Amino acid sequence: MIPMVDLKAQYRSIKDEVNQAMQGVIEASQFIGGEELKQFEKEFANYCDLKYSCGCSSGTDALYLAIRASGIGKGDIVITTPFTFIATAEAITLCGAGVKFIDIDPDTYCIDPNKLDNYLKKASKISGSGSAKALIPVHLYGHPVDMKPIMEIAREYELIVIEDCAQAHGARYRGKRVGSIGNVGCFSFFPGKNLGAYGDAGIVVSNDENLIKNIRMLANHGRKEKYKHFMEGTNSRLDNLQAAILRVKLKHLERWNEFRRERAERYSANLKNIDGVKIPINREWAEHVYHLYVILFEKRDRLSDILKNAGFSSAIHYPIPLHLQSAYKYLNIPQNSLPVAEEVARRCLSLPMYPELDFDKIDEICEIIKNHVG
Ligand SMILES: *Cc1c(COP(=O)(O)O)cnc(C)c1O
Repeated sequence: MIPMVDLKAQYRSIKDEVNQAMQGVIEASQFIGGEELKQFEKEFANYCDLKYSCGCSSGTDALYLAIRASGIGKGDIVITTPFTFIATAEAITLCGAGVKFIDIDPDTYCIDPNKLDNYLKKASKISGSGSAKALIPVHLYGHPVDMKPIMEIAREYELIVIEDCAQAHGARYRGKRVGSIGNVGCFSFFPGKNLGAYGDAGIVVSNDENLIKNIRMLANHGRKEKYKHFMEGTNSRLDNLQAAILRVKLKHLERWNEFRRERAERYSANLKNIDGVKIPINREWAEHVYHLYVILFEKRDRLSDILKNAGFSSAIHYPIPLHLQSAYKYLNIPQNSLPVAEEVARRCLSLPMYPELDFDKIDEICEIIKNHVG
């Protein structure tokens, strides 16, 4: 069976480097905090063209810490997309804030700046400056959000911009790395992401030194010194072992992203002229990193079954937009109110995508799709 991601193939390609790095940490037996973590934080901030970063336990925690350290909480509204992994919205409500979903662009599947602007225009008429305090654009599937209009809107309405970069390590928007455009960027190192740890991990990046200082304090029980707690925080640290693994893998990230782009091009060349198949868009201002290769297809469930019978995995990201999830029933958002997200959720299908994927396998997958359509 061809999987969606092949972490074993990746490990085989870097086995000696990773084993050596892990052994180094175990022999030094410095597990919480340490040199590997310090170096990784520097290297990853640098990779994002930023000055500061703070490692943490997961992408979810990265978002939670960034929102909380930005001073957002009860009574505030944070705007995001309904077409994302639930963590984006969970982090908002974990901080005590309310979540507002704005529909997506039908081509990038990311939050639609026009719909955002319309919403804020109306909302500000009702409540003056409004209670919207922040905005979380999600660079979905590895394609950046159209950040120029987003930043203009954010300036007009004084919104803090927290980029969810969990699917877009290394992607660029008009030459700028994602995570370096808004006030702060949040990344996940979940094993299957473009840069993945061997367990849960995440990081917050920013040029705002104070913000990162506060995040570091929050992530470590609100303390600056061992038993001096300035506030109540939590335990959300990135451990030294994961940092050592991530340092090794960061060196390969650019190459791996290039391999993903080559594979996406192969898929798209094969699929571009097939009726009824919508291939991923790559806007002229975007450098896509193809965390996922997602097509839209009307009868995607049948196609998924046919692929499975032929030995190919596929997956759906995401079958139910957040506003229609049971978890968000309390928001009382009726069906058809965010129609683009609902339509994409009904038709999207993610095909196998990883740097080591054989081009022959891509051709086989595309042949099956062609025959199924024809
Ligand atoms: C993976 C992901 C997260 C959460 O990251 P974890 O490390 O799994 O907590 C958040 N947002 C998006 C868009 C993601 O894909």
